Amino acid sequence: MLRTSEAIASKYGRLKNYVNGEFIDIPGRTMSVISPLDGTLLAEMPCSTSQDLDQAVRAARAAFPSWSRTPIKERVQVFYRYRHLLEKHTQELAALVSEENGKTLGEAVAEVEKCIELTEFAASLPQLMTGEVLEVSKGVECRTEHVPLGVVASIVPFNFPAMVPNWTIPNAIALGNCMIIKPSEKVPLSVGRVALLLQEAGLPEGVFNVVNGDSEIVEAICDHSGIEAVSFVGSTRVARLVYRRATSNLKRCLALGGAKNHLLVLPDAKPEMTAQNVAASMSGCAGQRCMAASAMVAVGAVDHIVERICEEARRIVPGRNLGAVISAEAKERIERYITEAEQQGAKVLVDGRGATVPGKEKGTYVGPTVIDGVKPNMAIAREEIFGPVISIMRVDSLDEALAIENANPYGNAASVFTQNGGYARYVIDRASAGMVGVNVGVPVPREPFSFGGWNESKFGVGDITGKSSIEFWTRLKKSTVKWNPEAGINWMS
Ligand code: NAD
Repeated sequence: MLRTSEAIASKYGRLKNYVNGEFIDIPGRTMSVISPLDGTLLAEMPCSTSQDLDQAVRAARAAFPSWSRTPIKERVQVFYRYRHLLEKHTQELAALVSEENGKTLGEAVAEVEKCIELTEFAASLPQLMTGEVLEVSKGVECRTEHVPLGVVASIVPFNFPAMVPNWTIPNAIALGNCMIIKPSEKVPLSVGRVALLLQEAGLPEGVFNVVNGDSEIVEAICDHSGIEAVSFVGSTRVARLVYRRATSNLKRCLALGGAKNHLLVLPDAKPEMTAQNVAASMSGCAGQRCMAASAMVAVGAVDHIVERICEEARRIVPGRNLGAVISAEAKERIERYITEAEQQGAKVLVDGRGATVPGKEKGTYVGPTVIDGVKPNMAIAREEIFGPVISIMRVDSLDEALAIENANPYGNAASVFTQNGGYARYVIDRASAGMVGVNVGVPVPREPFSFGGWNESKFGVGDITGKSSIEFWTRLKKSTVKWNPEAGINWMS
């Protein structure tokens, strides 16, 4: 739970903003950062004001002319060094991610490894940035170049304290922009550590700035006339608010929202592989992934697979190979969904309610939960749960399964488990989701492919990572050039 008291000494003390290459004190109100692992008070996060944001925007704007004119092959040198530093500090950064977010250390290490992959992509951007040039009439050339936007903002959620910030930081900055990032108030520590690594990597002052805060700063970002583009990752409720507010202020905006991902399991699916994938997808990061499996649509006779999923789930133990959920409120919300579904007639096959970890009684844990007999109209089938829970719905045909998947307003991911290539293609073609998997529980595309959902899982054009992000973080300059004095004049030049 976030509190506003400083009565108890916290492990990391009062956090600072990072502006113009310096960590600066922000007076006034704070929010407590509490470890979901065991309830330790980690830090006090200052709630910046719009004046604090303005200070950061001014620093970023001052840094922009020089950074944007630095050739991209030089800019990416920072990210080669940053990649090396991420590798060198993987264990330390992962420990911080785990401590503030509650995920297991292994999951946090994987998160930092993903940051490295994202940075490797950014370092390769010069290879993708060659423009186009053509002699369009005698002696006249047209060419295009991708040029940076200016100061851009990144607003991030709690569930990946290092990875989601790194969806935006390396690409936006390597492409020549200066950035303001607003970390989640629940997990602000990792971004502070990232700022230090970028500083050590040699990023010039003012190019990257951290402004801590809550919704007030998000609103101020959407309203600030010195910010050209806003990327947002978080719940659909807030994604909608941010997209509307930023675009009404005529900013470019890409806002990624929540999800409700369906796994379609067919009778010919390989039982062991399917069970392992379903269990890992629903329970990884305690189900707090926007790509987590939340609903399984069982087509026909798949009881043997459901049994195996339950066996796999029983091997997942809170505090051992399952992390905590972010807060006591989250635990209560997840358990309420399970209880309501049970009261409405669903059958809880594996029950994760009331989980505790000895010695970590103040931690907020929910065990893996498998619920069968869920009906599509139940809240647990329709809404994002964001916990280690899978709801199983039974149908007789693949078309019925697709109808359930496609009736959901979200559209991040869908996956089908089958050995039949025809059925797999049928699902890829018909699932209304931005990312589709075949025999893959978490179908996250890896670089250079881009990440992004459809429908209410994303507002705006393009994707946030990979090649697609180039369009978001840059604009096209078109030049028409005639150097040859004998070229003469014709109808178009
Ligand atoms: P959230 O929407 O509560 O918060 C995200 C950011 O918005 C935070 O920085 C927060 O400070 C800010 N915020 C919160 N309420 C606000 C308000 N009323 N006005 C303005 N700003 C506000 O999300 P969360 O709980 O931190 O993260 C979990 C959610 O993020 C889940 O819904 C998950 O699916 C989603 N998510 C989506 C993706 C994706 O790629 N689509 C990736 C990761 C997480």
